[in-house]
Amino acid sequence: MGVYNIIKSPIRCPICNNRLRWQSKYLVYNGLVLANTLTEIELDKTMQGEMYARCEQCETWIEAEIHDGKTQITTTITKK
Ligand SMILES: [Zn+2]
Repeated sequence: MGVYNIIKSPIRCPICNNRLRWQSKYLVYNGLVLANTLTEIELDKTMQGEMYARCEQCETWIEAEIHDGKTQITTTITKK
């Protein structure tokens, strides 16, 4: 089990619109890689990285990229 940070993001599940608990995969802040310490992080425009979530309702796996604090979903894997 890895340690991660929790990212505050309003992005909901694209399949069922459930709220998601986003975890950081890799996060750079002001040019420095942030350590994963289960901290809750609010994105700002200096942040770059990746985050992911598993929807508790429909079990979809979702990954998103973070560019200048803006997030975009890159991967959505639905459970069959
Ligand atoms: Zn869902």
